[in-house]
Amino acid sequence: MFEIGMRCFKCGRKYPIGSVFWCPHCGGSLDIEYDYNEIEKVILTDEFKRMPISHWKYWPFYPVNSPSKAMSLGEGATPLIKSKREGLYFKYEGCNPTGSFKDRGSTVEITKAVENGVRKALCATTGNMGASCAAYCSRAGIELTVYLPKRTPRSKIEQIAAYGARVKKIPGSYNDCLRAIHELKEKENYYLVGDYPFRTEGEKSIAFELAEKARIDSVIVPIGNGTNCYAIYKGFQEFVYLGLYEKIPRIYGVQASGCAPVYRAWIENSEIKEVKPRTKASAIAVGRPIDGEKALFAIRKTGGKVIAVSDREIVLAQKELAKEGIYAELGASVPYAAYKKLDLEGQTCVLIITGTGLKER
Ligand SMILES: [Zn+2]
Repeated sequence: MFEIGMRCFKCGRKYPIGSVFWCPHCGGSLDIEYDYNEIEKVILTDEFKRMPISHWKYWPFYPVNSPSKAMSLGEGATPLIKSKREGLYFKYEGCNPTGSFKDRGSTVEITKAVENGVRKALCATTGNMGASCAAYCSRAGIELTVYLPKRTPRSKIEQIAAYGARVKKIPGSYNDCLRAIHELKEKENYYLVGDYPFRTEGEKSIAFELAEKARIDSVIVPIGNGTNCYAIYKGFQEFVYLGLYEKIPRIYGVQASGCAPVYRAWIENSEIKEVKPRTKASAIAVGRPIDGEKALFAIRKTGGKVIAVSDREIVLAQKELAKEGIYAELGASVPYAAYKKLDLEGQTCVLIITGTGLKER
């Protein structure tokens, strides 16, 4: 409602809302811009302040025309669980309707697709994105085809199929799936769902919810496409800009060392180059992240770091999280493995546990 346009993160060119999925000039990822004076008029009211935390409470920060018609399954408002370790908290995204944080993005993205009269959509996924898009598309009556790597966990493929989406298994990586759907889009003018501009906006609500709960020094988040990492930064940045929060926490991004293109770019201070994923943490096995540059920006801007953790460390982190009563999938266990490598004693730190372990059989 208050969005004014899209801007390329890389080259700065501007585009009308929803006109393209990425910058046609340089291929860069797009950012949605808002009229914050208009947003301020809604959020500085007593009514807004009194409302309990929920994903759609923050509708002025989403690019939708009528929030009352949101395609919602009750996503967000996930628990912030105190660890046995002093100062450590878990934001448990496994409580979302399809078991991962992706639902925050899907509710906004599919609401937007319905507004645009979309009937048929395509999605590339390592599993969680597909399951989430399949649920929301099913509810919206949108026919969805999902491209995924052949080696995606069976339970995720079953979940996607259960929602009625068509599943195409590709003998390759997530980025091969992405190339396949981008090619098909050119030929048949399909709508794309996934890590595109509308989704980032929905994923900001993790930051909004955290900002309302506590003063946080650092946030540790897994990096697959890097979209969530940047979305959390943008959410905090918007709240700080509007005077609703004091300071953006330091953002730490975590990759599996067997698939760490963002980590490599961080260490070498270079461009992000595609790698061949070799990790058990399939949810974050993205060799060429769509929003890798944005994630690096968020991490640099806040004084955080990129950390890589081995599969052995990830498996151990999953076991240790279980001792806290939290069952996370491997890709969602990486923040705990990273936390152990960082010296954040005496700080308030939140680990974003992006998905439930139940999804990975
Ligand atoms: Zn551009």
